[in-house]
Amino acid sequence: MNVVNLNSARSGSASPCVHLNLNVRGLDTSATLAINEESSALQQAGKTIYRLGLGQSPFPVPDSVVAALQRNAHQKDYLPVRGLQALRSAVADFHSRVNGIERSADDVLIGPGSKELMFILQLVFYGDLVIPAPSWVSYSPQASIIGRQIRRVNTLAENGWRIQAEELEAICLEDPGRPRLLILNYPNNPVGITYSDAELKAIAMVTERYGMLVLSDEIYSELHYEGEHHSIARHYPQGTIISSGLSKWAGAGGWRLGTFLFPQGLRWLLDAMAVVASETFTTVSAPIQYAAIRAFEGGSDITDYLSRSRRILKGLGQSLTGRLRHMGCELADPEGGFYLFPDFSLHRERFAACGIKTSRDLCKQLLDDAGVACLPGTDFGRPATEFTVRMAYVDFDGERALIAADPETEIDEAFLYEYCPNLINAMDRIEVWLDRL
Ligand code: GLU
Repeated sequence: MNVVNLNSARSGSASPCVHLNLNVRGLDTSATLAINEESSALQQAGKTIYRLGLGQSPFPVPDSVVAALQRNAHQKDYLPVRGLQALRSAVADFHSRVNGIERSADDVLIGPGSKELMFILQLVFYGDLVIPAPSWVSYSPQASIIGRQIRRVNTLAENGWRIQAEELEAICLEDPGRPRLLILNYPNNPVGITYSDAELKAIAMVTERYGMLVLSDEIYSELHYEGEHHSIARHYPQGTIISSGLSKWAGAGGWRLGTFLFPQGLRWLLDAMAVVASETFTTVSAPIQYAAIRAFEGGSDITDYLSRSRRILKGLGQSLTGRLRHMGCELADPEGGFYLFPDFSLHRERFAACGIKTSRDLCKQLLDDAGVACLPGTDFGRPATEFTVRMAYVDFDGERALIAADPETEIDEAFLYEYCPNLINAMDRIEVWLDRL
């Protein structure tokens, strides 16, 4: 076959042969990005769509950060591979304020989104990837592309799908000397829960005992509803890398800027990642890096922006949880970020009667019949026949809501009806759809 193609290629009459890397064959576009594009196409075709698919911050980038970007539009030079020194200092200071972790600019790596940094980390570190089920859609495909083994830690709905230290230890005990990378994400995507300091401590004891590398994905840290985020790095500083970025708490997903903070003992990993960065993305866009300094420096405007964001998200998360429970769903109480992970399994028999056999079927019907876009639990590593669904409660005008959410204004049902009507309508649509099944 190849010879035939090669011969015809020589004669100039055929297309190049298809030689896809085996690790890439069969992979699809990431579910989060695919549902976003599908939702846009349906809206452009005139359909009403409630967009609970992509987890994109509804809030605008803070004004002072936008102004910093405008002031730096002229910055045109390539910047250092690891990132601008002043930005790396600001990121180190940010982690000292937010996490109580004292590090310096030399411990920071800047990348075009934390997603790319995670990919490069998985590439340069040799070991199995350990993640809970459910967990964010891209950790596992990244491991597959690179050819790493993936181990899913058992989790239970009644524990809010949190990793339990004993379950993690059970995996380590199978082969104690094996190198492993645990990715722990909190506040969590897709569940919306976080971990208490005691739970983090228990997990840290296991990771330390077995020398596991921990990537602590804290991209939603600033969206902890109470502003009380804790990092596992406090309990296992020598083995924890903290991942953050501008996408979630600063509303700048499309700016593509992510950060990793390393302990000194993992400088070899930072160095190796910087080598790969120098051969791939080179450096992050210069104007974005200059503007990001303003975001990580913080200040009273950003404190106010975050406190309003948290109050809105908390009010919404709690209200929508109540609505979903009223529909018979089981789900954990949300504690931060902007996701819910309801399980519709109570309706299993009625779903079966309509040919809905998997969470993917369920999401397809919700989109087709109710116009509500969300993602199936199976994309997050849950069994296909479990009716879990991820909902990103971000379909509202965040700018308008932020202005209205001054400290005197209560984030009650009236506020949500006024400022987040699409999310209320989405719940109504789902409820009507379930009633008609
Ligand atoms: N983290 C977001 C989500 O889970 C979207 C960004 C992405 O997947 O690249 O929906």
